[in-house]
Amino acid sequence: MESFLDNLFNGRYDAEKRTILSLCEKGMAFSLADLARDLDTSIPKITRVVSEMEDAGFLADLGKQESAAGRRPSMFGLNPDAGYFIGVEVGRKSLALAVSDFTGRVMHFQDEIPYTLTNTEESVLGLCAAVKKQVRKYHLNASLIRSVGVNLTGRVNHQTGYSYSYYISEEKPIRNILESGFGRPVFIENDSRGMAFGEYMSGIAGDARTVLFLNVGWGLGMGMVLDGKLFGGKSGFSGEIGHFPLLDNHQICRCGKVGCLETGASGLALHRLVGEKLAQNKPSILQSTYKEDREISLNNILDAVAKEDVTAIECVEQVGDTLGRAVAGLINVFNPDMVVIGGRLSATEQYLMPPLRSAVQRLSLNLVSNDTVIKVSHLGKSAGAIGASLLAKHRLLNQ
Ligand SMILES: [Zn+2]
Repeated sequence: MESFLDNLFNGRYDAEKRTILSLCEKGMAFSLADLARDLDTSIPKITRVVSEMEDAGFLADLGKQESAAGRRPSMFGLNPDAGYFIGVEVGRKSLALAVSDFTGRVMHFQDEIPYTLTNTEESVLGLCAAVKKQVRKYHLNASLIRSVGVNLTGRVNHQTGYSYSYYISEEKPIRNILESGFGRPVFIENDSRGMAFGEYMSGIAGDARTVLFLNVGWGLGMGMVLDGKLFGGKSGFSGEIGHFPLLDNHQICRCGKVGCLETGASGLALHRLVGEKLAQNKPSILQSTYKEDREISLNNILDAVAKEDVTAIECVEQVGDTLGRAVAGLINVFNPDMVVIGGRLSATEQYLMPPLRSAVQRLSLNLVSNDTVIKVSHLGKSAGAIGASLLAKHRLLNQ
């Protein structure tokens, strides 16, 4: 597959152009003087380099903008029309999809696209077809779609292209099948890591360089941006905070071990706690469903919380306290700029966050935790698909 960057680099490595692309990646604009200073080079040289990048279509002159010195230099940034990137988050029964332009601006987002991925090659190709069908509705210039990012749950090695949850095949990584289906470079990533990247690049992270993103969904995962870099670990298996053996609750985890953090701090834990309260006949709007022996989903519980159901709220508070203990430990270990709480349970922010913050206050080292801001995800349910589209661009530009 011919590289999108061949156009810019003519087959040779060009450190200055690469640096300019990465400086502009977060959607920022620079004057020629800024770039000459940041790259420690002369104005005539940088003028030539920028002009070549403009000719190749990567940079755009964004016009004259106010500067602190009062002069109004021309500012340069990424050309939004240089390409589009598709991000896909694969859920249990549906897909979420985002399209971003070359500056990282999100142009389209759609969730709840019905699709269930199974472990066959046909199913993986079917995913590509479902995504392409949705993208056709946006009437984009298809030749400008540069790459595709796909977030999958579970362990993902983005370098080898293997998922250990979907299409587990010895011979062929799932990434290669996706690439043949899309006809574009594909980058796969773990869902929590994709969300962390979305929040870091376009959510509430701002200038924060070290960001821990907790994905509190049915399970509990974590994505880490450490000193500006998305951290995967040796094989891409990092961030399994849900299986931190922290609790003394004798609960068997999905992984088969006992007392994992996820058994007390996740959607699954909330579901269990609510079930226990209903069995004790605690007052709740869910009692009638429970007594009729009908299934209660996590969504039913989240709806009950939104309707101020006292019993459901108590359980959310308990989850918040347990999660707060873990966050206190993470803050002590990482000294992060920011911890972001995301995933489906972040919808219960009003009840989840006070006990979480209180546990952090009580249990972390004050000097360390005073350095850290704790926030609720800004991108919410779109974090994964947006993160995947931004990661598709980031990996394409930095490979
Ligand atoms: Zn576990």
